[in-house]
Amino acid sequence: MSKKTWISAETLLAHDDERNPNGAVVPPIFQNSLFTFENWDAIDAAFDNRLESFIYSRGKNPTVKLVEQKLAALSGGEKAQLFPSGMGAISAAVMHCVKSGDHVIAIKNLYGPASNFLTSYLKPKFNIEVTFVEGKKLSDFETAIQPNTSLIYLESPSSAVFSLQDITAVCQLAKSKGIKTIIDNTWASPLYQKPLAMGVDLEIHSCSKYIGGHSDVVAGVVIGKAEVIDSISLKEYEWIGAKMAPFEAWLLLRSLRTLSVRMKQHQENALALAEFLEHHPKIEILRYPGAKSFDQKELAKRQMTGLTGLMSFRIKSDDLDKVKAFVNGLSLFQIGVSWGGHESLIYAPAISYLKELSPEQFAGLGISLGDMRISVGLENKEDLISDLGIALEMV
Ligand SMILES: *Cc1c(COP(=O)(O)O)cnc(C)c1O
Repeated sequence: MSKKTWISAETLLAHDDERNPNGAVVPPIFQNSLFTFENWDAIDAAFDNRLESFIYSRGKNPTVKLVEQKLAALSGGEKAQLFPSGMGAISAAVMHCVKSGDHVIAIKNLYGPASNFLTSYLKPKFNIEVTFVEGKKLSDFETAIQPNTSLIYLESPSSAVFSLQDITAVCQLAKSKGIKTIIDNTWASPLYQKPLAMGVDLEIHSCSKYIGGHSDVVAGVVIGKAEVIDSISLKEYEWIGAKMAPFEAWLLLRSLRTLSVRMKQHQENALALAEFLEHHPKIEILRYPGAKSFDQKELAKRQMTGLTGLMSFRIKSDDLDKVKAFVNGLSLFQIGVSWGGHESLIYAPAISYLKELSPEQFAGLGISLGDMRISVGLENKEDLISDLGIALEMV
């Protein structure tokens, strides 16, 4: 029987292809560690086809597989492997691509723990060298390539400053030199940026952000060609053994049904807040690909079909008391790390940096006490603007 393949993302997300047991409108959670077989030949056949068989839940699980299929289809990839965190996905994908003695090129404003994994773990333990580049120009990558470069690691838009890399151009360069490419696509979500179609080998998301969207799941995913994902599934996923829990996968399936409507609202709210912040006399800089002053607008239009709700800005004050009064003066924005959920959040990078760095090192980062990151949630945008407005009066 031939099946219609849905081409629109909205339908793909809202619709389940398989009919569930007993006609249940929502699939059950397969909360079991192992699967049993009717006889010797049945389990024997399952081992012959390990990648598609349900044998033991450290490998494949039906609930987890449903989400993987959906995320692969959404991103235009052949296969996906879920992980119990975004960092699980990142470390597995990187380890898959490199071996001892290799060289990696990564962008400077990489997600912190990913950067630490490269420099404080892979480098000392496995002699893997890393060069960080700003990544706004193709020549940043060209000049960094060495004979032993095996991986270019991208994040576009990048953490904290939201600068972009020209994904198509970097992938063309990488392919011509036999270098693999990974992109952390968490900011744009699988709806608004399709890096696999631009030539990226592996696309990664922290599903703890927009894909989960309800701030109740920590998870990650790697998406790419079947051959590569199968190898990651059999090696980095099964052997390191940090397996995806069926309940968390089931929550992600719940979340995916509303991903497209949530993202539309995050975008609408964020654009309204960006407009407000950009014109506010107490705001010095707004860093957001939707900001009027954003310097890579054309590239953003070319490679993303939408914008999301994470941005940062600088308050015109270096007075810690005033900056604290602003943060404490907010009532809708809650103070916390992470982002991408239904709730609006604020975080000041200075809080953690000042613990790790000397005042001189802190100054060298180009970060100010007044730098704030906000994740714009799904509340009413006028309410959010008025919350920010009231708190800014305290500055
Ligand atoms: C949060 C985040 C991650 C890590 O995801 P976890 O699920 O928290 O492990 C990776 N990349 C980016 C850009 C993130 O914001």
